[in-house]
Amino acid sequence: MPLERERCDDIELTDENGILAGRFAPTVRKPVCKLPSGNFALGMGDVVVTNDPITGQGSNTASKAAAIYMKRIAERGDKPFDAQWMQETFDIFWDYAQWVVRWTNSLLVPPAPQVLQLMGAASQIPPLARRTHEGAARRRVGSVRASHAAGLWKLFFHADCRRWLSTPA
Ligand SMILES: Cc1cc2nc3c(=O)[nH]c(=O)nc-3n(C[C@H](O)[C@H](O)[C@H](O)COP(=O)(O)OP(=O)(O)OC[C@H]3O[C@@H](n4cnc5c(N)ncnc54)[C@H](O)[C@@H]3O)c2cc1C
Repeated sequence: MPLERERCDDIELTDENGILAGRFAPTVRKPVCKLPSGNFALGMGDVVVTNDPITGQGSNTASKAAAIYMKRIAERGDKPFDAQWMQETFDIFWDYAQWVVRWTNSLLVPPAPQVLQLMGAASQIPPLARRTHEGAARRRVGSVRASHAAGLWKLFFHADCRRWLSTPA
C-alpha cells in the first residue's frame, strides 16, 4: 500500500516466531488445560480466541483479557489459582469477547439484509448515521462497556435494534 510504505521503512519482527503464514479458521477453545505435571494453565489471547483479522480485533481483545485476568489475580490474594477460578476468570472475559467474535464472524458471510438496509439508509439520513455510530460506540454489554464491535453486532442483530434506533436518546 503506497500510503503505508514510508511508515514501514524501519519495521522489524518483534521476534523470529512473530509470523503467520497460510490461513486459519476462527476458533474459540476451552480456556483451561491440565499440564503433565498435574497443574492447570489458563490460556489467553489468540491461543483461546482466534478471530479472523478482518475486523482488526485480536490485539485489542487480548489486551482486554490481560486487564481482566490481572484484576482477578490481584483480587485472589492467597487463595489458590485452581481450575474453577480459571474457568470463572475466562467466563468474565467471554461475557465481553463473545460479541467481538460474533461481529467478526458476521463479516465473513454476505451481509444480512437488515445490515445493508441500515447502512444504505444511514448514508442518506445524517441523524440515523449519527445514531448508528453512537450506538456502536456506547452500548453496554452487562456491566462491561461494549467495544465498538460489540455495539455494532448488537445494533445489527439484536431484536430490539429497530426500536432503539427510532427512540430519541
Ligand atoms: C494479518 C493480521 C492482521 C491483524 N490486524 C490486527 C489489527 O489491526 N488489530 C488488532 O487488534 N489485531 C490484529 N490482528 C490480531 C493480532 O495480531 C493478534 O490477535 C495478537 O497478536 C494476539 O496476541 P497473542 O499475544 O495472543 O499472540 P502473538 O502476538 O501471536 O504472540 C505469541 C508469541 O508467542 C511466541 N511463541 C510461539 N511459539 C512459541 C513457543 N513454542 N515457545 C515460546 N514462545 C512461542 C511467538 O513468537 C509470539 O511472540 C491481526 C492478525 C493478523 C494475522
